[in-house]
Amino acid sequence: MYVLVVNAGSSSLKYQLFDMDKHEVIAKGICERIGIDGKITHHAAGKPDYTAEIPMPTHAQATQALIDSLLDKEHGCLTDMHQIGAIGHRIVNGGEWLTEPVLVSEQVLADLEKCRDIAPLHTVPHLLGIRGCMEVLPTTPQVLVIDTAFHRTMPEKAYFYPIPYELYRKYKIRRYGFHGTSHRYVSEKAIEYLGRGAEGTKIVTCHLGNGSSISAVKDGKVIDTSMGFTPLEGIIMGSRCGSIDPAIVPFIMEKENIPASEMGNFMNKQCGLLGVSEVSSDLRDVMAAVRAGNKQAKLAYDILCYGIKKYIGSYAAAMNGLDCVVFTAGIGENTPEVRAGALEEMDYLGIRIDPEKNANVKKLPAPCDISADGSRVRVYVIPTNEELVIASDTEKLVSAL
Ligand code: ADP
Repeated sequence: MYVLVVNAGSSSLKYQLFDMDKHEVIAKGICERIGIDGKITHHAAGKPDYTAEIPMPTHAQATQALIDSLLDKEHGCLTDMHQIGAIGHRIVNGGEWLTEPVLVSEQVLADLEKCRDIAPLHTVPHLLGIRGCMEVLPTTPQVLVIDTAFHRTMPEKAYFYPIPYELYRKYKIRRYGFHGTSHRYVSEKAIEYLGRGAEGTKIVTCHLGNGSSISAVKDGKVIDTSMGFTPLEGIIMGSRCGSIDPAIVPFIMEKENIPASEMGNFMNKQCGLLGVSEVSSDLRDVMAAVRAGNKQAKLAYDILCYGIKKYIGSYAAAMNGLDCVVFTAGIGENTPEVRAGALEEMDYLGIRIDPEKNANVKKLPAPCDISADGSRVRVYVIPTNEELVIASDTEKLVSAL
């Protein structure tokens, strides 16, 4: 079966077409500037790359443009759009209503509508993406794969905030967690590598990208995660502050005269590595500045490593032990200095990495194990593949119809 995986943002739509018999991506691309003008960048295996400016006033037109690219004689890989057996949509937050992969129906869309209130920035584009696909491919089954789903196993004490219960009842304010599809993929891989089944395993997964989150996965199930009601909580991120003393928020608002409507933007866009280093939100730039002797860049890097270390320690406490730490996503997969910085002086927990292996992960075969000989805890670097999980879940659900 061919499965089209769609990740819809407010003005962009990323896609990958999977051949599920081979578990291979046969085409991928991105539609950008939807609602502004419109541009598609498309690549199909073995074909020349293709970029075009095509008017995309809506997500439906963007979907049409991607289907046209897939069907294009020169750049495409399909002869009939009905070769696409199913569409899988990435959904960032399903709230308390959508907690497992589901086939799209009017009831499911009504449940997704309810998430508008708690996650408007993601839900609105998701709905546009789904409706766009329904318009262009009305008979193709569509599945929602929910990022928050993997975090559903957290106990109440981990997801409940110490605020009046009434506010949870009214607004569903609680920890949802994010990057669940990635935490699930890499923790399943780690369990496979540990080779003794999920039962009894204690794993910390570190998804470190522009947005970062860390999860405690015990017996294959999440028991805690660093992101919360929104993807702002947790460790320092590219331009997000992560967890800070909540009283700092009204203090800054008053001193800097920032209204509530702009404070979210401030905490998401002007803080984090960017705010501290005053260099960049991209860790590559920050690390270049560190090497050049920039003290604020070094401080941002130190805060990042220290934050990861504290989460690993606290999650080892929460799980009463630790078998394995996993690093994934842009920073986790590509920055040896962060892995080394986060794990230095953790031998009391049984964590020791091999500096040679850590510096050369690209040359290591899977499982990319960077722990030192004799380290009680295994440390893996596992490239994440959220799209493959979405495609597999979609295929599974649709095959059972
Ligand atoms: P997103 O959360 O947007 O998916 P990514 O997982 O791509 O982000 O991670 C982006 C971060 O990872 C940036 O800080 C960037 O510096 C870092 N990064 C990405 N690729 C590389 C690379 N090849 N080498 C070093 N750092 C990288």
